[in-house]
Formats: sequence, structure tokens, C-alpha cells
Amino acid sequence: MPDSVCDSKLLKKTVEENRKIVIEADKKIEKTVQNIQNGIYPKEGIHFVSHMIGLFGQRLWFYHKTSHYSDQLKISDSCVGCGLCSQICPMKNIQINNQKASAGNRCTMCYRCISRCPQKAITLIGDTV
Ligand code: SF4
Ligand code: SF4
Repeated sequence: MPDSVCDSKLLKKTVEENRKIVIEADKKIEKTVQNIQNGIYPKEGIHFVSHMIGLFGQRLWFYHKTSHYSDQLKISDSCVGCGLCSQICPMKNIQINNQKASAGNRCTMCYRCISRCPQKAITLIGDTV
């Protein structure tokens, strides 16, 4: 789950090591886009075995994991009520009231809001972003 590299408690590597991973991922994305533009489509992860690994090693594990965290989203006082988190949450889990964001209990730990908040005001497992 590369999105979760922003939540400090989940970091298994240093911030610098994570920056390098993100830079390498960006390069891979750019190369893949160029290949697609040239008619070469990526085939990683579409094999049946890959689906099984993804299902048991990631999705089912995360479904179980998220059920314990769905109401744990913390939004600090640095929230300025811009509404970005509310717009991008796929679960419609964040509302803006009186210029402040507040979360419900439908979070699936996708980390979109945490990664994109301009104020770094949202955390889930860690205390800082
Ligand atoms: S994106 Fe951040 S600053 Fe904007 S409303 Fe959400 S929590 Fe507040
Ligand atoms: S982590 Fe994802 S699902 Fe949870 S509140 Fe943020 S955007 Fe919504």
C-alpha cells in the first residue's frame, strides 16, 4: 500500500528511503506511460497467481485490518476547512461543518485524504504525517 508511506507510525523505512522509493516509482510510471503510448501494455499482476497473492496477501488482510480502524481518523486543529478531503474520499466519509472536517466510521484506509491534505491535518495510525 504505497499510499500509507505518509503515516509516520507505518513507516518501515526512513523518510529518505521512502523518498527514493517514490522517485523510483515515478520513473516506472513514466516509463510505463511511454510504453503504452507506443502500444506496449504492461502485463504485471494479471496472472491468476498474482490475483491470488493480491487477494490473500493484501485485500483480505486489509479488509480485516480496516474494520478496526474505520472510526480512528484524527483531524487536527490545523484543518482550515478547504474541503479537499471530503471531495476525494471514495467512501464519502468526511464532512465539512463550520469550516472544519470531521470523519465518520466508513473509512477503508485508502489514505487519499491523508496524502492530499495541504495542512497535513489528518492522521490514522500515526500522530504525524
Ligand atoms: S483537506 Fe485538510 S485542511 Fe482541507 S478540510 Fe480536509 S482536513 Fe481540513
Ligand atoms: S483514508 Fe480514504 S476512506 Fe478513509 S477517510 Fe480518508 S479518503 Fe476516506
